[in-house]
Amino acid sequence: MIYADNAATTKMSASAVEVMAGLINETYGNPSSLYGFGQKAKEVLEDARAKVASAIGAEPSEIIFTSGGSEADNQAIISAAEFGARKGKKHIISTKFEHHAVLHTLNRLEKEGFEITLLDVHEDGLVRVEEVENAIREDTALVTVMYANNEIGTIQDIKAIGKICRDHNVVFHTDAVQAVGHIRVDVKEDNVDMLSASAHKFHGPKGTGFLYVRKGVYVRNLIDGGAQEKGRRAGTENVPGIAAMAEALSESVKDIDKNSAHLIPIRDRIINGLYEIPHSDINGDRNRRLPGNINFCFEGIEGESLLLLLDDKGICASSGSACTSGSLDPSHVLLAIGRVHDVAHGSLRLSIGEDITNDDADYIIRSVKEVVEYLRSFSPVWRDLQAGKTSFIL
Ligand SMILES: *Cc1c(COP(=O)(O)O)cnc(C)c1O
Repeated sequence: MIYADNAATTKMSASAVEVMAGLINETYGNPSSLYGFGQKAKEVLEDARAKVASAIGAEPSEIIFTSGGSEADNQAIISAAEFGARKGKKHIISTKFEHHAVLHTLNRLEKEGFEITLLDVHEDGLVRVEEVENAIREDTALVTVMYANNEIGTIQDIKAIGKICRDHNVVFHTDAVQAVGHIRVDVKEDNVDMLSASAHKFHGPKGTGFLYVRKGVYVRNLIDGGAQEKGRRAGTENVPGIAAMAEALSESVKDIDKNSAHLIPIRDRIINGLYEIPHSDINGDRNRRLPGNINFCFEGIEGESLLLLLDDKGICASSGSACTSGSLDPSHVLLAIGRVHDVAHGSLRLSIGEDITNDDADYIIRSVKEVVEYLRSFSPVWRDLQAGKTSFIL
């Protein structure tokens, strides 16, 4: 099997599994307990916090452990909205291609009386920095723009957007779930006030993540209860998950250059190979994308069938995001970059992992070519395109 769906989730690293197993079996105390055995778990927790902080250039006190990326996004956005509202600021700026953890939170705030501006994402999958600046108003409480997109992998100029927000005194949050552990992220250099990340996207366990909140920036708890995380997130800490996350993150960050040097040439090999398929096109900028992300549209076919046939060939891939597959709506990300419905339906996302080889890449290219050709051979849409009844878009 070739697992090419790392943007959906990743395999845990061997050392993260080892750390987790050790804690489940041995250091299972409650970090809030006063006896030594509980305090040992507390030490593990604080050691993990220091590791996570150092991986993104933060201070340990600026890290809040959460159940993952979705919770971190909710907490960041709701906190900034509440803080703004107290001063009469009820305007929020974001983009059309955010993850649903962001978009659905914004939808809810809109119903509660906030005004939301969703910026366009251009054909290259990039937000224009000047458009962020132009959208900022006196009453803007928050700007939230994702670091790297989960479907098309495009990487935004977070540092420049952060600088503008800082200059205008507006809180800036970034959903960095796809970026952390894969490309260099430094919260200080990037001018970020809040940042969300999730362990299972960088070879850590599912159900754990963190929110970075810059010292002095307002954050509130979403879950009422005990005083864990300095009152910012109640509930007994997932110590094994958190420690395994810290292990996986330290490892990923240490290997970023090595992994990129391996992945980028293979990513580009696959991109070049898929371009040989007639009437196909890459989604998002070819170079300003995550080292492991390939996303293509093929005219005249349907993404779901493509996935099932690739599955038969032992390739795990995705079409749109995992959250939207199963619904008939094409991906909001592909629509945001201007793909029309028909074309957006025929999309394929391959998110390759560090263990991929050139042989795997060639097998993927060969398989996609075969499957696209096969599906087109009985596609009525393709027949009409070939007959000139409708015109090709790609
Ligand atoms: C996966 C993902 C999330 C959600 O993270 P969970 O830990 O699964 O809740 C949020 N944003 C982006 C960009 C993601 O890729």
